[in-house]
Amino acid sequence: MTPLQGDDRYSRQVLFPGIGPQGQKRLAAAHVAVVGCGATGSAIASLLARAGVGRLRIVDRDYVEPSNLQRQSLFDESDAAESLPKAIAAARKIAAFNSSIVVEPHVADLTPENIEELLARIELVLDGTDNFETRYLINDFAVKNSLPWIYTAAVASYCVTLNILPGKTACLCCIFPDPPRGAVETCETSGILNSAVNLAASLASTEAVKQLVGAEDRMRRTLSSFDVWRNERAEVAAERPRPGCRACGERNFVHLAGEGRPHITLCGRNSVQIHERHRPLNLAEMAERLKPHGPVRHNDFVLKFWHEPYEITLFPDGRAIIKGTTDTVIARSLYARYVGS
Ligand SMILES: [Zn+2]
Repeated sequence: MTPLQGDDRYSRQVLFPGIGPQGQKRLAAAHVAVVGCGATGSAIASLLARAGVGRLRIVDRDYVEPSNLQRQSLFDESDAAESLPKAIAAARKIAAFNSSIVVEPHVADLTPENIEELLARIELVLDGTDNFETRYLINDFAVKNSLPWIYTAAVASYCVTLNILPGKTACLCCIFPDPPRGAVETCETSGILNSAVNLAASLASTEAVKQLVGAEDRMRRTLSSFDVWRNERAEVAAERPRPGCRACGERNFVHLAGEGRPHITLCGRNSVQIHERHRPLNLAEMAERLKPHGPVRHNDFVLKFWHEPYEITLFPDGRAIIKGTTDTVIARSLYARYVGS
């Protein structure tokens, strides 16, 4: 196949006066991270990749499941059948429609321990995560390092987005001082419309392009939310940092300082994640060992093992996700029994 000429590929975008040839060059030189590659993350990554952002780093720990396909636009049925990690599946899909850019997939959770490394050399971060723990971590890191980032979230028919330009605008913590407590609405409890996802992704990607081409003055200075079902929208002012903000005012980065988390419960997913990074696993050997105990399937990135009513997913770095329980004691004992204690 003959490589496409860059001029052809981006010609319609270069014609747009806000971008032009200079803007396109800037996009090609940009290095952007998309943290979380589920619904909004995959739509954002797709738009930025097609727009010609030169380097895209995609960080996601999950694997593709059939229930993702309704809204996660970078994945297809074969990715779900193989349980491919989303970061890997996304990189393959992007390479098929734009081989002229570089995608750096990382099959990982963003944690206080690895954030320096995973966001190194990045000039803009886009939020495709589904949890506030990670968003506050990104906010701490971004504020500390004066790194712009864009918050997005979507659930049910609702979506919300905010541009955070540290030192200039409000940060996430200015607007929401604390992570929400108690039951949080998630797409597993309230469902989700793919159109709400794509609206959030379109808004965030446009703001990202403005930032990258040097049109920061055009960026929105509000927390903007939409309900695509009720046709309602709301704006909350965010043009200035809030005096006394824990993150950008006091520079107290509690989420960044968070010590190692031995295991976290994935909210609303009826599952427990176990971090055992010091125990690298050979998935092919594990598959042989587990065969006598129940159905098992693996590829280079992930192993799935079914022990009714639990589904155990293992990763090469020793991480495990136990589905079917939120009881960490049960999860631990299953891990000890099948992987090691
Ligand atoms: Zn703040």
